Amino acid sequence: MKKLEQLYEGKAKKVFATDEDGVVIVDYKDDATAFNGEKKGTIMGKGVVNNKMSNYVFGLLEKDGVPTHFIKELSDRETAVKKVSIVPLEVIVRNVAAGSFSKRMGVPEGKELLCPILEFSYKNDELGDPFINDDYALALGLATQDEIDTIKKYTRKVNECLKKYFLSAGMKLIDFKIEFGRLPDGTIILADEISPDTCRLWDVKTNEKLDKDRFRRDLGNVEEAYNEVFRRLGLKD
Ligand code: UDP
Repeated sequence: MKKLEQLYEGKAKKVFATDEDGVVIVDYKDDATAFNGEKKGTIMGKGVVNNKMSNYVFGLLEKDGVPTHFIKELSDRETAVKKVSIVPLEVIVRNVAAGSFSKRMGVPEGKELLCPILEFSYKNDELGDPFINDDYALALGLATQDEIDTIKKYTRKVNECLKKYFLSAGMKLIDFKIEFGRLPDGTIILADEISPDTCRLWDVKTNEKLDKDRFRRDLGNVEEAYNEVFRRLGLKD
């Protein structure tokens, strides 16, 4: 497969065309941003961790019946994936109160929720990814009812699978964000990434934060946290 011109550069990844129909290459960067791009920095080695971790997790999810965009890992930072058009929804699942939920609802970080919460944000940087519900998504034509039903079904499966997977590596899955895409025939598949950039992971015993909150909140040992997750998941060579 040949890597052709760059199609897009996002905050954490670049996307390249290829000589194969319907296939693009994702190239993970070490760049880190937070608070809608206001805070910028570099997390050395993050691109490698996020690439390999996402690919491994997508493999597990495929086995569990969740279709994903993953095709083949090409190098430490590059992966061939199915080209999709991204559904403009950030799909967030919360198992434990944290982040914007704690602020909005006045619930202390770390409080276990009685059941998982699935919520949507409208993926729009200019508007700061506003919180929306199903009716907003339908009324604005962001997704159809069928697509929303499929996205919710897959998302609940992702949560159950990931909770177990991370727990077996000594980490609690507090919350996470995933994105879905549409194939040319309209099929919904899981896309984007699943990594310490997009999941909150706390050590099961000490509640130490092993995710991007270390960068967002200037907690230090940012690289170490990404490497620790990588090591615990058995992905380090
Ligand atoms: N998240 C993300 N990208 C975003 C917003 C949130 O990956 O643009 C992830 C975040 O890492 C966390 C979960 O979604 O695991 C819930 O984030 P929250 O809504 O609490 O927002 P935050 O506190 O990160 O602003």
